[in-house]
Amino acid sequence: MKNLPNMKDARKRTSETSKEIFLSNNKSNKYKGNKYYIRTYGCQMNVHDSEEISARLENLGFIKVETIEEADIVILNTCAIRENAHDKLYGFLGRCKHEKEANNPNLIIGICGCMAQEESVVNELMKHHPYVDIVFGTHNMFELEDMLLNKMDEQDIRVYSKEGEVYENIEYKRDSNIKAWVNIQYGCDKFCTYCIVPYTRGKQRSRHSKEILKEVECLVKNGYKEVTLLGQNVNAYGKDIDDISFANLLEEVAKTGIPRVRFVTSHPWDFSDDMISTIAKYDNIMPYIHLPLQSGSSRILKLMGRRYTKEEYITLFNKIKNTIKNVAITTDIIVGFPGETEEDFNETLEVVNTCKYDGAFTFIYSPRENTPAAKMEDDTPLKVKEDRLHKLNELVNKYSKEANLKYDNKVVPVLLEGVSEKDENMLMGYTDTMKLVNVKADKKYIGEIVNVKITSVKSWSMDGEMVNE
Ligand code: SF4
Repeated sequence: MKNLPNMKDARKRTSETSKEIFLSNNKSNKYKGNKYYIRTYGCQMNVHDSEEISARLENLGFIKVETIEEADIVILNTCAIRENAHDKLYGFLGRCKHEKEANNPNLIIGICGCMAQEESVVNELMKHHPYVDIVFGTHNMFELEDMLLNKMDEQDIRVYSKEGEVYENIEYKRDSNIKAWVNIQYGCDKFCTYCIVPYTRGKQRSRHSKEILKEVECLVKNGYKEVTLLGQNVNAYGKDIDDISFANLLEEVAKTGIPRVRFVTSHPWDFSDDMISTIAKYDNIMPYIHLPLQSGSSRILKLMGRRYTKEEYITLFNKIKNTIKNVAITTDIIVGFPGETEEDFNETLEVVNTCKYDGAFTFIYSPRENTPAAKMEDDTPLKVKEDRLHKLNELVNKYSKEANLKYDNKVVPVLLEGVSEKDENMLMGYTDTMKLVNVKADKKYIGEIVNVKITSVKSWSMDGEMVNE
């Protein structure tokens, strides 16, 4: 079967409200005892999609393994946000091809996620990677079982570029039994000029609040301590359907009694005063906000289609800081957007000096196929962009360290999630403000929120000791 992506169709938006479709999940023993390996690239949305794919595979009898050499099926869940994602995918595909040719001719290789929605990628897979067996898009995950139960000899490609529906009744094989992702909305209608998400993930579709709350209540019942409400632009939640606003949804989720509520990602343009006051009002809504800046130059923000000026962003930032006690704010910044001058870049540094972020994800602009920014003239040499990134990172790191130093010797609540990757005698967890802490504590406290005294602060993490044993 060949349903190929089409970027023109992917851009289309109608005023129709998306349909709510309740899935009946497919169980079978056809692959009982077979093994799957899944590799996830990119954002939390992809991480959560992989939890859905894992559940689908396990419903067919597959068991998870950690290496491709042990696997009967390899699924690569891809990301299309940056150019180097392509290099990573093709690099890893080379390994899978070798494994299939040299050791395991029956190995099934599958590709899904945002790159599967790109025309050029699918054309490349058809022409040069015939050993890839199945390709399914972000709107087609529910077809995975059918692709495997009715496995074809030829490449099976199922990628819809239509606007998309809202699927309910999805099963997940969650990575953690302490904290969980909960999708509240799919897709995005903002069309920032550099971003491919509105094409790869389709139009904004909010889930109905009653379904979201049902899912959160079930997680509470099962002992989960934290939920993160997930969407490309969570604070636009509900604007496409006749339902409550994001501020009201946050409040309802907080009222379920789950100890910790988080959300990602916010767009400054949709950040309402109601949201700020709701976060300030509930102790179980965590005082941590990721507020993407992207550029500190209003001229560049306009070219990016971000819908706010530098001044409006700073006003919002200050309102959040002044209303929510002890809030930590992180951001995303792109350097070297087409046409960015030294003056524009200096304005970005100025905003960083004003906001003194707790942390920032910084990137050099990378053009994405079919987006308006990819057609803009870009005459800044790469070396200049790299120098700007370096300068920006130095400043960001300085403020991040300063923000962390405020925790030295303080006692803070930490949700202990498991054993530390760095030291097996320590546990790891996060503060309410999303700071990573390695903690000296007994393993019996995994899954608990405990008080921790911070004993040392590093650039990206802290060490501490539990104090309320
Ligand atoms: S709001 Fe975020 S996901 Fe949507 S287009 Fe802009 S950058 Fe992309």
